Amino acid sequence: MKYDVIVVGGGPGGVPAAVAARRMGMKTLLVERSAVLGGLAISGLPILGFIDHSGRRVLGGIAEELMQRLKKVGAFREHVRCPVHNSLALYNHNWMRIECFELCRETGVDLALYSDLMSVKTDNGRAAGITTLCRGEIREYETKILIDATGDGTAAYMAGAKYQKAASLQPGSLTFTMGHVDIPEVLAYMKAHPETIEVTKDYDVRQNLSQFDKGWGFTFIGFSEFIEEARKKGEYTIPRDRIVFSTLPDEGEVMVNVTRVTDVDTSVADDVIRAETESHRQVKELVLFLKNYCPGFEKSYLSSLSYGFGARESRRIEGVKTLTVKALENLDVPEDTIVLAGYNMDIHPANTAQHFMQPVERAIGIPYGCLVSSSVGGLMMAGRDISVDEHIFGLTRIMGTCMGEGEAAGTAAGLAVAEGIEPAQVDVVRLREILRKNGCILE
Ligand SMILES: Cc1cc2nc3c(=O)[nH]c(=O)nc-3n(C[C@H](O)[C@H](O)[C@H](O)COP(=O)(O)OP(=O)(O)OC[C@H]3O[C@@H](n4cnc5c(N)ncnc54)[C@H](O)[C@@H]3O)c2cc1C
Repeated sequence: MKYDVIVVGGGPGGVPAAVAARRMGMKTLLVERSAVLGGLAISGLPILGFIDHSGRRVLGGIAEELMQRLKKVGAFREHVRCPVHNSLALYNHNWMRIECFELCRETGVDLALYSDLMSVKTDNGRAAGITTLCRGEIREYETKILIDATGDGTAAYMAGAKYQKAASLQPGSLTFTMGHVDIPEVLAYMKAHPETIEVTKDYDVRQNLSQFDKGWGFTFIGFSEFIEEARKKGEYTIPRDRIVFSTLPDEGEVMVNVTRVTDVDTSVADDVIRAETESHRQVKELVLFLKNYCPGFEKSYLSSLSYGFGARESRRIEGVKTLTVKALENLDVPEDTIVLAGYNMDIHPANTAQHFMQPVERAIGIPYGCLVSSSVGGLMMAGRDISVDEHIFGLTRIMGTCMGEGEAAGTAAGLAVAEGIEPAQVDVVRLREILRKNGCILE
């Protein structure tokens, strides 16, 4: 089968990429190895990156369109400010999964689900097609542009693209949701024991009691006192010293982001199996810990598990441009910016139970060239595998930014196919005009 644009990976990078390419009039295929669309956006994690530290709105386009679709069905209320994460988009993750399908269906994106990549075909140094395995059947597809939105950069790796990987990767986690949490009881405990919300000394940002005033729409970081107590009894072995949970729109439901498996490279098969096994063990330990030790959780229950272990970091594909940590010196927003990255430096170091967080005053711009492979023609990236150095990656890896990159990659792929040119030759002024017209915020 022949396509103009093939996007591999149906997560925060991939869904907007496919929708944007289709809206540019391209025959578009979205390939996903699982049964569902959304990637880590269907785990319950808040989408970060809509508002920067200065309070300015920095993300629109398809990312916001998805949030408005969720709002219409009562699965999202509004963006809320957070002193630690700048902003939180908290939504019902099952509805996100449905809306990703609905958006692709309405736009006319073809789907290849249950389809893992077997190979990427190159022709004269250009990505020319892919082979997938779907239910025992090998399928071949040809394409003019291939967009890698696999998170791990698997398609680019198979195409022989140049890439980087940090010597020590950030640990990953399996997240889950709990139902029937007594939020008023958690809030009452917090008020009586404000020391519980002391974040680690490596954070340059602090929580304050007023952020919890509304009684919903917050991320809580704390309960280290209970962790200490449980550790002494051998009932908490996870290498993480704070409980982190976010409220979801449905009463009493929260998303818990605490498990931590270190020394995992999710591009290595044996590592992934170890990570899945260990993180499931940790979920069991955590759920029992929450119920037995933490106020408000006594009657709660495990309501859902993310679709799999989440990797924070693996391959970063080398682009014709690479965003580096130097961008923070002047908070650069270059002329070829295709998305504003409005988060903070947020790094989970490999070998400590702590977590490093440093606020970044305002959003920086990601240049277009970070989405275009430097070594393989016709190959683009969208999501956490774009071309950034391992330090600034701590800021760019969040879902909102990945969504904006996806929209830019799909739009640029459409321009490249329409004009019969390489992605590297796309007129960035024109690309930015289209993105702005479609509600993206670029300056
Ligand atoms: C534990 C954890 C907590 C995080 N917390 C937050 C948070 O609170 N807020 C936030 O905004 N961000 C958070 N992040 C970061 C963010 O979730 C990711 O960086 C982001 O989801 C990356 O988007 P992506 O589309 O590149 O990859 P993914 O979300 O991983 O999506 C990739 C998709 O590609 C598919 N795929 C992979 N390989 C193949 C293949 N070979 N063939 C076909 N399909 C394939 C996958 O099944 C998946 O659907 C967190 C990350 C982790 C791991």
